[in-house]
Amino acid sequence: MKFSVEKVVGGGRLGTILPSGPHGSTALETPMCTLYTRGGSAPHLGVDMLKRVSNVPDIAAMSLGSLAPHHENIRDFGKGIGEFAALKSSLIFTTLHDASAAVTSGKNDRNGVAVWGKGGKFKMDPSLFVKVQEALRPDWFQALSDGDTDKHTAKKRLAKAVNNTLDFLDGILELTKNNKILKDASLIGAIEGGFDEEERKRSAKETAARPVHGFLIEGFEKGHSGVDLFSIDSFTKLLEKTVSFLPEDKPRIMETVWSPLQIVKAFNLGIDVFSSSYPYLLTERGQALVADYTIPSSSPAARLENKGSPNGALSTTSGFYVNLKDKCYFEDFSPVLTECDCYCCATFTRSYIHHLLNTSELLAYVLLMIHNFHQYFHFFNCLRRSAREGTLEDLQASLEAQMNSKPSSET
Ligand SMILES: [Zn+2]
Repeated sequence: MKFSVEKVVGGGRLGTILPSGPHGSTALETPMCTLYTRGGSAPHLGVDMLKRVSNVPDIAAMSLGSLAPHHENIRDFGKGIGEFAALKSSLIFTTLHDASAAVTSGKNDRNGVAVWGKGGKFKMDPSLFVKVQEALRPDWFQALSDGDTDKHTAKKRLAKAVNNTLDFLDGILELTKNNKILKDASLIGAIEGGFDEEERKRSAKETAARPVHGFLIEGFEKGHSGVDLFSIDSFTKLLEKTVSFLPEDKPRIMETVWSPLQIVKAFNLGIDVFSSSYPYLLTERGQALVADYTIPSSSPAARLENKGSPNGALSTTSGFYVNLKDKCYFEDFSPVLTECDCYCCATFTRSYIHHLLNTSELLAYVLLMIHNFHQYFHFFNCLRRSAREGTLEDLQASLEAQMNSKPSSET
């Protein structure tokens, strides 16, 4: 892949990624997110329902937990996971872990890394890892990495995580030399080091010295299972430092479950590519994204519409989303978000989705997923426009005001 930076805004980069291989003409504009998938498809949406969502990213992130144990089937199919999962026109980015799920700790060592799916643990060394990638045939693939660290991890273990990850990377580079199946696949190196500046520096510099095409920064937390659980404010300086050791001409990726406000902050620190697991986790909780990204904020309506019940039922509601399970939506016949032009908002009311949620109808999650994806993808358009037009500070201020507009924000 080729990454070119067109404009630097603060520390953020407006850029373009041109992939290698058959999707070479698909230019990806950054900052961007990937399409979050589970088991190879967009959660709750089949290929046909996904067509009802606008601005779907051209690249889908697929985690290995649910795919690697079945790699022999996919290898026999012979055309890679994109075609296997009927996402032929999409680029595929294979990541190690599901961005929305907690990963069981303590299973990695110098011989390999464990990923987790429904069938349990699947442990890979570099050799098996490369076999899995040959079967999946991704456009980008995250190198095997030991990201099983957090802010409580001891320095000795952090050093081990960095060493293991570099050894895995060297093994993969050796095994994929002259590899015909993976010749167009871009290898993404993982940056480790937890909360230790020296280890972060060593990991960044050593990884950057190897022929990788981009960087995935992880190892701040063992698994990402909560919305904004992992706030960028807790490691802003460390992330800034880490990024400073990475070259300018390669994209930087983070797979965290982040709200639009966290994304703006991370973009300002130089992160280019994000996950879209945030709208998925909101959907699982019966919540709808209603943040307003217009500058100046032309629709305080988005917030004013978020009628919470007066008896304190706001506990699962922040300024960015509403909890449609709340009984205050029983007779609310307005769309989820008046300004939204998604299929869900054009067709159904809050009251109907509240009803579907309360009767445990799967359609509730289909409709919420359509709306939440639509709004999150729309946000990235707004973020790029805002960076281009020099209104990023206004966007951040508006999002901060929205977040603080609720007494029990979860961020
Ligand atoms: Zn909508």
